[in-house]
Amino acid sequence: MAQETSSKTKKSSGRTVRLRVHRQDGPHAPETKRVEEFEIDWHPQMNVISALMEVQRNPVTVEGKTVAPIVWESVCLEEVCGSCTMLVNGKVRQSCTALIDLLSPNGEVVDLAPMSKFPLVRDLQVDRARMFDDLKKVKAWIQLDGTHELGPGPRQSPENQEEAYPLSRCMTCGCCMEACPQVHEGSNFIGPAAISQVRLFNLHPSGKMHAAERLETLMGEGGVADCGKAQNCVEVCPKEIPLVDSIAQVSRQATKQMLFGWLLK
Ligand code: SF4
Ligand code: SF4
Repeated sequence: MAQETSSKTKKSSGRTVRLRVHRQDGPHAPETKRVEEFEIDWHPQMNVISALMEVQRNPVTVEGKTVAPIVWESVCLEEVCGSCTMLVNGKVRQSCTALIDLLSPNGEVVDLAPMSKFPLVRDLQVDRARMFDDLKKVKAWIQLDGTHELGPGPRQSPENQEEAYPLSRCMTCGCCMEACPQVHEGSNFIGPAAISQVRLFNLHPSGKMHAAERLETLMGEGGVADCGKAQNCVEVCPKEIPLVDSIAQVSRQATKQMLFGWLLK
């Protein structure tokens, strides 16, 4: 028989989960900044997204106040799209794979906050547009010109594929940007994700054709030389992308381009 799911009626298991949510009504409403706590019934295999969905069904705080439903972003629910990235207990990660049983084995409060390095949209949702704009800036694609049949491109060796595959797993989640001390309001550092994509597309036998253009976008202010080498990025990347290697490689490519690029023009 189906059980009632009101958060006011405790489930027969008696186990509950408490979420502490850092909220704000909009990007220009700092006066609405607040922290609200919610208590919901525990379910097996619960993750942060399913917990937030439970609150959404009945958005009542622990004080019994009915509030606006919490806003967050999520799409794939399998750590592929990166859209549900937030600070879970202070650590930047995808909330779809953040399991409640691991976060709160003894009923500890689970703290949820939006990433701080991106403009806030509302509550737990931020705008990661700058990352997509940066991918456009560095031409993170293989350029095909013309509408006619171009024929097969150069073959990609197995060694090249092996180096490229881990880099291709980037999901533009923003964890590396959030952790990087060089990414802040006063800097225009492009950040590790876009730099690593330059390595990926410069590696590709067809992508190589536009390597110089990609490198030139990383040679000025905010480019690869602004990395402080703190290596926080590689620690938090959920896809274990070798970001520090990418930064070192792209930095060497950029230096070569700066010294000898004119010879190739
Ligand atoms: S190594 Fe560079 S990109 Fe990575 S966190 Fe440090 S400063 Fe940022
Ligand atoms: S490099 Fe890693 S942490 Fe950075 S955006 Fe890509 S997947 Fe996320």
